[in-house]
Amino acid sequence: MLKTMRSVPHLRIARASLSLLCLSAFALTATHAQSPAITLVPAVVVAGAPELIRVSASGAAAIDGEWLERKLEFFRGRDGRGWFALAGVDVDAPVGPSELKLTIHDAHGGVRDLSRTIRIRPAHYPTTSLTVAPQFVQPGPEALKQIDADQLLTQKAYASSALKPLWQGNFRPPVSSPQSERFGTRRIFNGTLASNHKGLDFRAPSGTPVRAGNSGVVVLAQPLYYAGNTVIVDHGMGLFTLYMHLSRISVREGQHVVCGQRLGLSGATGRVTGPHLHWAVRWQGAYLDPAKLLRLDLTAVR
Ligand SMILES: [Zn+2]
Repeated sequence: MLKTMRSVPHLRIARASLSLLCLSAFALTATHAQSPAITLVPAVVVAGAPELIRVSASGAAAIDGEWLERKLEFFRGRDGRGWFALAGVDVDAPVGPSELKLTIHDAHGGVRDLSRTIRIRPAHYPTTSLTVAPQFVQPGPEALKQIDADQLLTQKAYASSALKPLWQGNFRPPVSSPQSERFGTRRIFNGTLASNHKGLDFRAPSGTPVRAGNSGVVVLAQPLYYAGNTVIVDHGMGLFTLYMHLSRISVREGQHVVCGQRLGLSGATGRVTGPHLHWAVRWQGAYLDPAKLLRLDLTAVR
């Protein structure tokens, strides 16, 4: 035990404490089965974080939820007692109190309001400057046309999410390469244009196999102006993972993929400074930190 903790200090300890959090939350709700209990993991909510919301309510037939102007979709967990929603807070969400609206419907038409206030805390993301080819900072008329067309295509892809979760168990990294730029970094392109980095970069040499982070359905598989060759996988209930700048795409739209299945090869297409994989997680239009999704223990959920 000690040896394991010493060899991989940060990740292992983070995972261990998260599982402990999950366990203690489950133990707590199990002993108070009569009164509904709500737990959020991670318990400290920051901008850009995915959140696993668990509602333990015996006799619930359905749960309606809304948070940060997004609809929460609940499903029954593996144990058959708890209800779960895999949600999150957009990287640009305002910090401070937010209202988590929850209504529980029982089988006899009864309704219980379990709404509560959730405080969103600031995440401290760094700032970097980088240089890319000028056409990516000031795109010409032809490029602008393609950017508009890309937007329509991606909107269509995001509109087609499955009504049930397609993922199973924990999410896994799409490549084994080291991470090169974390999520949320504020980036200044060529000294002027600023944006948030809405994904996690891996320093993958061109030709590295890129694998699905979890099971789902491919809803987009084609080149885009900024993202280059892109694959988008729908994991159901508004949750998607995006794989960008690929040198090769090896899946087609509509194809079911399992966790770890090859989607293509990494590359340097689109707006890049060199070969890498940009991996993004999107839930109901909110961009979430993929590194934090990887740390969520979902094995007991489904
Ligand atoms: Zn990136």
